[in-house]
Amino acid sequence: MNTLQHYLQQALEHKVAIGHYNFATMTMARAIFDAVRTASESIEHPFPDGKIPLVLGISEGDRKLFGTREALAIVQLWREEYQYPVFLDGDHVHDLEDAKSLVAMGYDMVVYDAVTEPIKVNQEYTKQLVNYRDEGGYPCLIESEIGFISSGSEIKDSIPDGVGPETMTDPQVARSFIDAAGVDAIAPSVGNIHGLIKSGNPKLDIDRIADLRNAIGEVPMVLHGGSGTSDEDFVAAIRAGITMIHISTDIRLSYKTGLQQGIESMGDSVAPAKYLDPAYQEVYDTVTRYTKLFSGK
Ligand SMILES: [Zn+2]
Repeated sequence: MNTLQHYLQQALEHKVAIGHYNFATMTMARAIFDAVRTASESIEHPFPDGKIPLVLGISEGDRKLFGTREALAIVQLWREEYQYPVFLDGDHVHDLEDAKSLVAMGYDMVVYDAVTEPIKVNQEYTKQLVNYRDEGGYPCLIESEIGFISSGSEIKDSIPDGVGPETMTDPQVARSFIDAAGVDAIAPSVGNIHGLIKSGNPKLDIDRIADLRNAIGEVPMVLHGGSGTSDEDFVAAIRAGITMIHISTDIRLSYKTGLQQGIESMGDSVAPAKYLDPAYQEVYDTVTRYTKLFSGK
């Protein structure tokens, strides 16, 4: 099995993006995995063995629900059982010790999030995490968020305070951050917002993405807050150098929609499959759509 790093380099080279999909329950995880595996068989993509790689992401809150080790066990099981490039990311880990524990446990990737700290502090903590990874010889990729993109995956009325052109990631700052911290991937602020904005998400700054790509060479660049972005912006962002895209809010919305429909239509039945099947199907369809889009189809 190739490493996630290898797949990210392939994505960059072929100008496609790897999907990073957040899950909180087994039904969500299975729907995501099944959707990408099935899409791999029918769409054109540049990845070897006919298999589009994917990253399953789990946030701090969802790890409490699912179990930190349980999430890892499921992904490792599927990787072996299906011989499939499915990887696990600890998404937005705020505590350094917590991040270290995921690195040591065997997570494939950790998004270390100290973005609310001054950038020098963020850089120093990230470096400590990278050093810990290197000293232990763990094969975990470390990603850092640079430049504020707000937090939370709720549906927002308007663009949150503190997000704007002035908080977008400066290409030279990104370059020096990578050099100093030795981080494997960065999550920049390029007009993206966590969550969905009712009035429409702002447009991505494609020129900024291209400038960042020029400044940082081949370091993977990860777009967070993908939900709500237009298809045209996604395609342009990938062409300009985005390597991985996080989809969370859309998956949560699909899951909730499916559950609601299932519960409303189940009558007197109490069988979980009656409401979990529609939730599975909604998530499956959403991930299928994104998988095609990210593969350039
Ligand atoms: Zn994020």
